Amino acid sequence: MGRRPVSAPRVEIRIDRIRHNARTLVDRLAPRGISVTGVTKATLGSPAVAGALLDGGVSALGDSRVENIETLRASGLTGPMTLIRAPMPSQVERVVAAADLSFNTEVATLDLLDAAAGRQGRRHGVVLMVELGDLREGLLPQDLGAVAHHAAGLAHVDLRGIGTNLACQSGVTPDDANMAELTRVVAQVERQGRRPLSLVSGGNSASLAWACATADVGRVDDLRLGEAILLGREPLGRSPIEGLCTDAFTLVAEVIEAQVKPTRAWGTIGEGAFGPVRSGPDRGDTCRVLLALGRQDTAADDLTPPPGTTILGASSDHLVLDTGHARPQVGDEVRLGVGYAALLAAMTSPFVAIRARDEPAERANRAGRASRPRS
Ligand SMILES: *Cc1c(COP(=O)(O)O)cnc(C)c1O
Repeated sequence: MGRRPVSAPRVEIRIDRIRHNARTLVDRLAPRGISVTGVTKATLGSPAVAGALLDGGVSALGDSRVENIETLRASGLTGPMTLIRAPMPSQVERVVAAADLSFNTEVATLDLLDAAAGRQGRRHGVVLMVELGDLREGLLPQDLGAVAHHAAGLAHVDLRGIGTNLACQSGVTPDDANMAELTRVVAQVERQGRRPLSLVSGGNSASLAWACATADVGRVDDLRLGEAILLGREPLGRSPIEGLCTDAFTLVAEVIEAQVKPTRAWGTIGEGAFGPVRSGPDRGDTCRVLLALGRQDTAADDLTPPPGTTILGASSDHLVLDTGHARPQVGDEVRLGVGYAALLAAMTSPFVAIRARDEPAERANRAGRASRPRS
């Protein structure tokens, strides 16, 4: 039973790998005239992660929660920060105080932001979101002109640009058709307002493949990247992005029971704690290992167990593993890979510790290890 340096469960963050991923994508998009807003929301606005994004060359930080932006400000970061979710009317004072820019779709909220900015003696930038088919946030293209006109007339608010978000709600894939529509809408708003817009935010990590492959990025000059940088994967199929590390985050949990037991449950079978239970084939006696990790800590079905190990199930506080021939002992630690849902849940769980580490010396080997499966 080894010494444990910090508590479990914990997320271990490799800052150097995040910096590498950010730098690689910033460099890949720069020749296409596209800057990167680094999105921190999956890390609860971690200042260490934000620092890695900035070191990697992102031009702004984005988060969907004003609380996270306040955390970043309190850590001493002074660069541009964008609230990438529409502000809650009840939070406009905090939004104006902490964020330089927010994404908006509602005239009532724009008016509240304008009043708050006036009271605080500040200017607040706004980006209007346009709906291009994914059916989450955004004004329909035909409604955008009137709202842009309204925003341009406000005293303390600056209309800075147009943005769109795809893939999150309905899985609509960014392609030449919807991105060309974004460019058309931008041109139309500029014509009507007789003023150029400086920011055209072409979407999240799901827009990366399009931006790298298209013959014409049109007016898109910024992408908001979270998952692609943090996990090195594109979100539409979750395949690894070439040249990026997919192992910047690891979830570490502790073994609290390791017993050899039959594979099949016995007794009268009803539902488990979280619904119907599937029972696999009878494989005789196997080593069943319980980790002190559950749905209060992470999204248990979005974890990658160590090679040779299978996740058999998860309840609020237990993750059950079949470790095959390996026979871990009580107190041992098991390292698990995380997907976006598992990362988000773990980083926002009060039960999970966070430990960030920077190993800049390893940077040289980066490209080699990126495509290897995580271990
Ligand atoms: C979360 C979010 C992003 C970042 O998404 P990723 O898929 O993590 O890159 C970008 N824009 C908006 C509006 C978001 O809510």
